[in-house]
Formats: sequence, C-alpha cells, structure tokens
Amino acid sequence: MSDPVVDLRSDTVTKPSPAMRSAMAEAEVGDDVYGDDPEGNALEAEVAALLGYEAALFVPSGSLSNQLGLRLLVKPGEELACDSTAHVVRAELGAAATFSGITTRTWRAERGRLAAADVAEIITPDAGPYLVSTTAIAVENTHNFGGGTVQPAEEVRAVQELGRRHGLGLHLDGARLWNAHVASGTPLSTLAAGFDTVSVCLSKGLGAPIGSVLVSDAARIAEARIWRKRYGAGMRQIGIIAAAGRFALQNNIKRLADDHERARWLADQLGVAAGTVETNIVVLSVTDAPAVAAAARAQGVLVSALGPTFLRLVLHLDVDESGVERAAAVLRPLVTEAA
Ligand SMILES: *Cc1c(COP(=O)(O)O)cnc(C)c1O
Repeated sequence: MSDPVVDLRSDTVTKPSPAMRSAMAEAEVGDDVYGDDPEGNALEAEVAALLGYEAALFVPSGSLSNQLGLRLLVKPGEELACDSTAHVVRAELGAAATFSGITTRTWRAERGRLAAADVAEIITPDAGPYLVSTTAIAVENTHNFGGGTVQPAEEVRAVQELGRRHGLGLHLDGARLWNAHVASGTPLSTLAAGFDTVSVCLSKGLGAPIGSVLVSDAARIAEARIWRKRYGAGMRQIGIIAAAGRFALQNNIKRLADDHERARWLADQLGVAAGTVETNIVVLSVTDAPAVAAAARAQGVLVSALGPTFLRLVLHLDVDESGVERAAAVLRPLVTEAA
C-alpha cells in the first residue's frame, strides 16, 4: 500500500474524527431560524463567553462572518482600512464591495505584522464631502498570508486607541485566534478585547467540518442575524454542525501546540529562518512555487502555491509525526533546488 497523502495545503482540510462524528450524530436539533436549535444556541453562548462578548452568531463560513461584521461597521461608500494581504481584502472575492458597497484602503505589512504607525498613515476619518472617509479598521490575528504571525499586543492596543480616537469601528478577523492564544499563552478574551466585532473559525485547525462565529454586542448580533437570513444563510437543524464546533472547542484547542511544534520542526528541516514560524503556518519563497507544488504532489505531499514564488505549508490535526517527517523528506530536495 502506498503512503497516505500528506495534505499541507490548509488547515481547512481536516476531517471530523470518529468522536466528533458521534457528537454530531447525537446532537439534539431544532429549527435555528426560530431560535430553537439547542446546540446552536449553546455554541453561540459558549463562544460569546469565551471571547468576552455579549452575543454571538453561528454562520457557515469565515468569509460570511467577516462580511457580516464589516457591514455593521462601514456604510456604502465608506472605507475600511486593512493590510494589503488581509483575508478580507485578498481572499473574499470583493465581497465587501459587492454586498456592502465598502471601499478599502490598505497598508503594507511585512509578514502581516501590525504596526499602528502604518495604520495611522493611511486612515482618513471624517474626510469631508470630497474624499472618502475611513470608518473602520480590520486586524487579522493570526495573519494567514503573513505566515501565521501573532499580532504584537501593544500594536493591537495602539491601533484600537487610534481607532477610538477617530470614532472608527474595529473588526478582528480571528479565524486562527485559537493559534494566537496557544502560541502566546494570552487568554482568548484578552486577545479578542477592544473590538466591535470579532470573527473566529471552527473549521480551520480546530477540525470542525464547517462553521464560524461572529461575536459583538447584542444589538449588532441581532442585526447580523437579520443580514445572515437576508443573505440566504439562515440555517435550520444546525445542531449537527454546532455539535462539531462545541466538540472542537472542548477537545482541539490545546493540541494546536503540537501543530506549532511540527511547523517549527518542518521549517527547520527546510532551512526556513528560525523564529519566523510562530504558529501552524510555514511560508517560503522559491523560484517556481507551482513547479515545487506539482513535484511534491507527484510524491503524495500537497502544498499551496499562493503566488509565483510563494509556498504555504499548514500543519493541522490530520498531520501526525510520520506525516510531517514524510513531508520534510519530500520537500527538502525540492525547495533546496528551487531556493
Ligand atoms: C480561512 C480564513 C477566513 C474564512 O475563510 P472561509 O473559507 O470563508 O471559512 C477568514 N480569515 C482568515 C484569516 C482565514 O484564514
């Protein structure tokens, strides 16, 4: 039998474990559009409490969660400020513009790392009748395309102060906030504090098959619930998937430390500079990323070529010790050749 495929394209490729599937099968369900799904309600209450917010809304994807948050903070014709490789501006297919009439202005951030000075330089609050006004700032933690960067707490605080001073909304794309929590040892509620809206994903490293959660105050979440239905994402017996999310919160947060350790080990094997791998993502620059990805695929190791020279490898709960060793053995000669 040939070795199983090692899939490092993303932490979204994780499949529900037998224990998670059994939690799903046993879930009590009701019609969530009527507010009757007990697992869905419990999940929302748990995530709100975990992140220190009043209320939460369960949605099918992180993109929808982000976009619901953003539309609550920025009106049509107004501007969102974010970094130029933020998921909200790079990987949501123009959703903020398409659905909410939001324009974006971006700052450049090395490895996605937040610096309040970069934000201060580009925002234009209350720009008057001719120039577009910035009305919200989005922060991403950890930073996906930056390579799993954990945002420096003092810079997050400085951006929040800047935003407050100018009356701007603050959104946190915390798709991998769990990883920032495990890597930094900072409580989730501290990492999530001080924003107006926060989005977290259950379907990444936590291993749930589907689902993200938006948290905010009760009034905003009530409004988001209306927009969720308007967008066609009012779901019914969501207990089956909410149970997977609750299982993930219970069982799969602490173990993210294993992914982080494997990511550091793999980076070391591939000659990636020590200290650049903070969580579960390894990014590296090669001369021909698609060629490396194709050659690795031919040997049963899947990686993402996210640009002509940009490779991303993501560790997750379906890649064990032997998987990461095999990935290193296959990738080492390829990236050395291509570097
Ligand atoms: C994955 C991800 C999302 C949401 O992605 P979906 O595929 O829509 O669930 C949002 N932000 C970041 C930073 C992500 O990595």
